[in-house]
Amino acid sequence: MAKGKTPKPKKCRICPKKFTPVNSLQIVCCPSCAIQYAKQQSERKQKQSEADSRRLWNKRKAALKPLKHWEDMTQRVVNDYIRERDRDLPCISCGTWVTVQWEAGHYRSRGAASHLRYNEDNIHKQCHHCNDNLSSNAIPYRAALVEKIGLERVLALENNNTPHRYTREELDALRAEYRAKTRALKKQQEAA
Ligand SMILES: [Zn+2]
Ligand SMILES: [Zn+2]
Repeated sequence: MAKGKTPKPKKCRICPKKFTPVNSLQIVCCPSCAIQYAKQQSERKQKQSEADSRRLWNKRKAALKPLKHWEDMTQRVVNDYIRERDRDLPCISCGTWVTVQWEAGHYRSRGAASHLRYNEDNIHKQCHHCNDNLSSNAIPYRAALVEKIGLERVLALENNNTPHRYTREELDALRAEYRAKTRALKKQQEAA
């Protein structure tokens, strides 16, 4: 022990006893507590390494999923936002307030215009009948869309034919963005 430094008693890491350490490295009071402490540390390490390999495994599994999986996940998140955004609106195509299930319908279909599949102007709340049975019911959809967002934006949608392949990173960012937007909307509605 260096001159002038009197070791102060400290609490044992294992038992409630206080002891005076012989040097700054001593953290337990006695050999039996030392063994106990070593055991605890090795268990902790074991658990940590198990958690690490689990995390790595999940990461690998996620990396193996095809891009389509992430496109679909992202669509679900964006569609949730659309339904929340249009909560107080009827079906954009037929104007009904009643349906077995509210859906988010694309004006230009995902098949024909995959680059617009997450475009907010291109997706609106729709009844199940219009979305599914009438394949979006495009003619009244367009008329209502012009009224809702203006002819200019409808034409911009219709003339947007620049293809785009979303990357995994873009999809991750979109999901984060739309989850946050949905949360913000819900908060706003609760406050109102
Ligand atoms: Zn002890
Ligand atoms: Zn409808």
